[in-house]
Amino acid sequence: MTGFLPYGRQTIDDDDVAAVAEALRSDFLTTGPRVDAFEHAFAEAVGAAHAVACANGTAALHLAMLALEAGEGDVCVAPSITFLATANCIRYVGAEVVFADVDPESGLMTEATLKDALAHCDDRKVAAILPVHLRGDICELPAIRRLADGVGAAVIEDACHALGSGMRFASGAARAGDSRWGDLAVFSFHPVKTLTTGEGGMVTTRDARLAERLRTMRSHGMVRPAGADPWVYEMAEPGFNYRLPDVLCALGLSQLAKLSRFVERRRMLARLYQAALAPLAPTVRLAESPAWSDPALHLLTVLIDFDAVGKTRAQVMAALRERGVGSQVHYIPVHAQPYYRTRYGPLDLPGAAAWYGRCLTLPLFPAMAEADVERVAEALAEALQ
Ligand SMILES: *Cc1c(COP(=O)(O)O)cnc(C)c1O
Repeated sequence: MTGFLPYGRQTIDDDDVAAVAEALRSDFLTTGPRVDAFEHAFAEAVGAAHAVACANGTAALHLAMLALEAGEGDVCVAPSITFLATANCIRYVGAEVVFADVDPESGLMTEATLKDALAHCDDRKVAAILPVHLRGDICELPAIRRLADGVGAAVIEDACHALGSGMRFASGAARAGDSRWGDLAVFSFHPVKTLTTGEGGMVTTRDARLAERLRTMRSHGMVRPAGADPWVYEMAEPGFNYRLPDVLCALGLSQLAKLSRFVERRRMLARLYQAALAPLAPTVRLAESPAWSDPALHLLTVLIDFDAVGKTRAQVMAALRERGVGSQVHYIPVHAQPYYRTRYGPLDLPGAAAWYGRCLTLPLFPAMAEADVERVAEALAEALQ
């Protein structure tokens, strides 16, 4: 690819455009057959029993919290290194956030950092634990499940980065979203993610009751009682309009057919990066991938020792930009955001601070050419000089 390389970018082919055009000419722009078709195909793709499509990944997180009936008086644990939405969805339902620290080399919440966070939950009810599969690498789910069971909490996997990722633990293998260890898993189809619908999201679960609640809360909390007159609906609790329209489900279906191609391409580019960045070690290292994780990387994040280089991250990012290479920071610790700092005071999460101080995400998306990886590595070497 010539020209500027963003850190992430969608891949839209002519058949994606045709699928959307066909949906636009059909009888249903929303609440039609393509929603069901997308949900079924997605459930099949990740090995889930149920998949519920919704407006975006943030809505998916909110629906997951609503499905669990978490609320005021409850606490939920989320890692500090994630996108804002993972923590915000906890506040949407009135529960409080307890931030977990992360491993400074992988950026993931671990068994140890979760234990620490649970110790800060005091005697409040822990409604949910939200591990984030950062970059596409999988958290230690069996250990997280054990700790969750110990306090009676549900597990919501934020799998927004992990579509197509696999895992292999002593107790078995699984795919992100199959809910083998989690209760619910959440995906986003924002254009930078592995598969896009423009805006869109999905919640998967193996629990039919949770799936039913997700569907009810996705559409205003409306239920049609069995045997009632055809116009009758009832609302026990106000829900939302978080539906994903047929037009976008058509795009999702078309994209989903390419998932294995996207995943293979990401894996191949990640392997090229490994080789291309090796000469820059130890100043630049790839984020660590846990042994059990078989990631379909969404983000190619490196850890840079900026002190050793004698340059700030802003300088390095500017030098990369001059060379046509985009980069991004994933993420600013959420606990340090003004809203959370005001609410919970300053927190000491050294793993999150160490991660944040060194992380930089480099371009990774299927349309990149193999030569682009070399180009990025050279630009980074020059930028650090
Ligand atoms: C993208 C993302 C979200 C939110 O998804 P949207 O579709 O943008 O609402 C939530 N969590 C993580 C980790 C994400 O990367």
